[in-house]
Amino acid sequence: MKIVKCKLKNDQQVLGVLKKNTKGISAYGVLKELQRYKNVTPMTVYRSLKNLQNMGAVHKSNQSKNYFICHNDSKGKHNAVLAICDDCGTAEELKTDIFSRIIKNVKSKNKFNFDNFNLEITTTCRECA
Ligand SMILES: [Zn+2]
Ligand SMILES: [Zn+2]
Repeated sequence: MKIVKCKLKNDQQVLGVLKKNTKGISAYGVLKELQRYKNVTPMTVYRSLKNLQNMGAVHKSNQSKNYFICHNDSKGKHNAVLAICDDCGTAEELKTDIFSRIIKNVKSKNKFNFDNFNLEITTTCRECA
């Protein structure tokens, strides 16, 4: 797992919670975790999650609304392809190269820009299959 240096203490603590919850955790879940030992507002948690996302340290599933720690070596913000288990919610970040190549060749009527894409593949993990 890559080492992410955070300037802000809050970011570091939020990252700590995400590291422990490899199956993903909601923003509310992060809040609850942190509130066990410190006074923290939802706003602080959202801001930290946003910072971490911008740093490419964390990804959010738009489907489950959960946050996942990045397992990729790429530095900074990057396209993410997440495979998510429909049954248990386990997520895995897949290598993006092959997906980037496919998506670049997709013709879009509305001229969507595919440079910044996020992809979620809902499927079943080996343990649930
Ligand atoms: Zn990543
Ligand atoms: Zn599963």
